Amino acid sequence: MISLFLSVVLILSNGQTTVKKEKSMSFELVKLPYTAEGLEPVISKQTIELHHGKHLQTYVNNLNNLIQGTQFENLSLEVIVKKSDGAIFNNAGQVLNHNLYFTQFSPLGGGVPSGKLAEAIHVAFGSFENFQKEFETAGTSLFGSGWVWLAKDNDGKLSITKETNAGNPVTKGLTPLLGFDVWEHAYYVDYQNRRADHLKSLWKIIDWSVVEKRY
Ligand code: MN
Repeated sequence: MISLFLSVVLILSNGQTTVKKEKSMSFELVKLPYTAEGLEPVISKQTIELHHGKHLQTYVNNLNNLIQGTQFENLSLEVIVKKSDGAIFNNAGQVLNHNLYFTQFSPLGGGVPSGKLAEAIHVAFGSFENFQKEFETAGTSLFGSGWVWLAKDNDGKLSITKETNAGNPVTKGLTPLLGFDVWEHAYYVDYQNRRADHLKSLWKIIDWSVVEKRY
């Protein structure tokens, strides 16, 4: 009787260990490398609190719930985005997109890129100013919700891609370097319908050292 009882306890405690492991594998809300008001006046504290604290947290929660017990539950975010579709793709894509987005800003940002990234921008777009112009045009001309990305291919060649909704260039075999969110939730509180003004102001907070590392 005693040994039977012990084995039951062992199975139970083993089951609990497994549950704990699954919990630690779930995705977490990315930490901001600045305070909620740190990006003002380009992005307000209120927008950061809504966008990061509410919108992104919801995508993270949805993703963790959706992948539970599926083939995706122990895969990396990028692999999930590449292999999934439907609701899992939408939420995984938005978690990946926003993780890249929120970590590319700094209160001390702005200026121009340097090093190899600066050279590649010059090769692909002629000048940094022309790249900015093409990037803003891509963002303002995207119909509805989505993202504009600076991405590189396996040879380091740069391109601008427009993605609708939760899209990310990883699904095209590209590496995302810089992303502007053109969903209205990213700018409506601060800029209302003036998407172009919002995109133009984002250059002031880009942390080019982060983008250079991604390159
Ligand atoms: Mn967003």
